[in-house]
Amino acid sequence: MNHYVIGIDIGGTNIKIGLVDKKGFVRARGHLSTKHFIHSKTKLIEAIVLGCQDILKKYGIKKSQVSGIGIGLPGLVNTKKSLVYSLTNIPGWKNVPLKKIIEKEIKIPTFIDNDVNVMTLAEWKYGAGRGMKNMVCITIGTGLGGGLVINNQLYRGEGFAAGELGHIPINEKGQKCNCGGWGCLETYAGNRYLNVRAKNIFHKKITLEEITCKASLGEKKAIVFWKEVAEHIGNGLTGVVNVLNPSCIVIGGGIAKAHQHMFQIIRLTIKKRAMHVQGKMVRIVKSRLGSDAGIIGTRVLVKEMLGKNG
Ligand SMILES: [Zn+2]
Repeated sequence: MNHYVIGIDIGGTNIKIGLVDKKGFVRARGHLSTKHFIHSKTKLIEAIVLGCQDILKKYGIKKSQVSGIGIGLPGLVNTKKSLVYSLTNIPGWKNVPLKKIIEKEIKIPTFIDNDVNVMTLAEWKYGAGRGMKNMVCITIGTGLGGGLVINNQLYRGEGFAAGELGHIPINEKGQKCNCGGWGCLETYAGNRYLNVRAKNIFHKKITLEEITCKASLGEKKAIVFWKEVAEHIGNGLTGVVNVLNPSCIVIGGGIAKAHQHMFQIIRLTIKKRAMHVQGKMVRIVKSRLGSDAGIIGTRVLVKEMLGKNG
C-alpha cells in the first residue's frame, strides 16, 4: 500500500485531519473547530466531507493517489458493519452508517473505528509499541481509554467494546462512575476526579499543569499528588498485566505530561503487586506519537480493512 491515507480524528471539540504517507508520517494537515456545530450530526458529517476535499485540493493530490480514508471516533463503533453505534458526549449518533455516507460523497474506500483503537494501532506500528506482539495502550485525559493488541492483532471484543481500562473496578465501595459502575480506575485518575482532588488538597483552583510545574520544582504536596495518582494507575494496570501478560504498556494522553513524576511509581507499583513472570516482563513506556496518533493510526486501520476485504 504505497498511496496516501486520509486520516481523520474526531474529538469533542475539533476535527484533526492529515495525509499519512507509507512511513506513517503526516504530510499535510487540516484542523477544524467543531464547537459551534458539534451537536448537529449533519453538520459534523458535512465537515468531514469538506475536510477531505479541502486537503486533496490544497495539496494537489488526486483521488487515485489515496488508498483510503480512516476515521477515529470517540465512541462505540462496529468496524465490521461500519456503523457508529453511539458517541460519548456527542449526541444524535445512533447506528450511523458513516462509511456508506462518506464513500457516497467522496468515492474513496472509508473505514471507521474507535479513536483509542486507532491510537493503539499507531503506537503499535509506528510508535512506542513498535514490533510488540502483545501490548496495551492507555490514554489518560478526561476519560481513561485503552486498546489491546493480542497476538499481533488489535482485540476489539465480541461487541466492539473491549479495552475499557478506565472501568476496571479498583474499589468495591468507591464513588459512582460515568459508566454506571462505581469505584472504577477512571474515578481515581481521570481529569474530572483529579481536578476535584486538586482543589481539596491545594485549597484553591489549580490546574493539573500547575501541579506538574510545582512537582518539578520539588514542592512536596504536588509530588505526593502525582504519586497517589500513579499508585492508582499502577494498581489498575497490575490487573491488566496479570491477565494479558503484555510485553509493554504505552501510556499517552494529557497526563503523560506529568510522566517524570509518575512513571517510575507506576513501574514500582506493578513490580510490587503483579505476579512474578508478568511483572518482570512488562515495560511501561510513554507514547511516542502524541496527539498525532489518532491520525497516523488510520493508515494501519485502512491497511487492515483493505486486507480483509480482498
Ligand atoms: Zn466506570
